[in-house]
Amino acid sequence: MNSDLLNTITTLSHEFGTPDFVKGGGGNTSCKTSTTLWVKPSGTTLAGLTPAKFVTLDRAKLAQLYTAAMPADTQAREARVKDLMAAAVTGGSGGRPSVEAPLHDIMPGTYVVHTHSTLVNGLTCARNGAPTCARLFPTALWIPYIDPGFTLCMEVRRRIRNHRLILLENHGIFVAGDSADEIRATYRCVLDALRSEYAQAGIPTQLKPGPIPNETDPVSPDHMVYAKHPKLGPEMAADCVLIRQLAAAFGGIQLLDARAQKFIREWEVEAYRSKQVA
Ligand SMILES: [Zn+2]
Repeated sequence: MNSDLLNTITTLSHEFGTPDFVKGGGGNTSCKTSTTLWVKPSGTTLAGLTPAKFVTLDRAKLAQLYTAAMPADTQAREARVKDLMAAAVTGGSGGRPSVEAPLHDIMPGTYVVHTHSTLVNGLTCARNGAPTCARLFPTALWIPYIDPGFTLCMEVRRRIRNHRLILLENHGIFVAGDSADEIRATYRCVLDALRSEYAQAGIPTQLKPGPIPNETDPVSPDHMVYAKHPKLGPEMAADCVLIRQLAAAFGGIQLLDARAQKFIREWEVEAYRSKQVA
């Protein structure tokens, strides 16, 4: 049974591991039973996943994260979170669990597929993202930008009520389902609605020809993490330009502010993650 779950999530990881959905080690996937969560290791690619690569976590141990006393200092808190997550890893499975593992644990559904889809980020990185999300996807949970990692996980945990679709401002999308087809259907519904919005606004969903700047203002944490990467840097810059183009359909681009950027720059998790992709 567990091998069925792992085979299915591996198939989904490959389907959603294309550049339209993720770049580098971005995005993550999981499957779970009532007691166990299998999640993508941090910094690995969705396209390269196999059933054996998933990190196995004891959900009861992982849940200690939600009630543990946390240091006030950001760096100390994130170190404590890392230790608690490491303590939940079982079965000698290799790798470090994705920092977004607790979000996968919190969401309902057997499978969760989280991506940084460019078409979706045209909405999540737009000034009118929240009202547009409410209009297009009334059953979705919209989470205003918040530092990734523990802070984000606790905010989602506080607000989630059986939501199977979450849009994270300046970040991406989480989709949960009890079957591969449920996941695919939700993604299809979201992408179809967005394509129709872009078409109505007369905005092409492919990058218009023109020069791509070497450095662009960051629109999401991933765009910052991989900005200086030799191979991914130019891909991320092009993605930023396309997201800016798409966001014009929803009131224009909204960048990460200076405080949000500072958190990412100082976050050890992201430094680790950026080094994992060759
Ligand atoms: Zn993410």
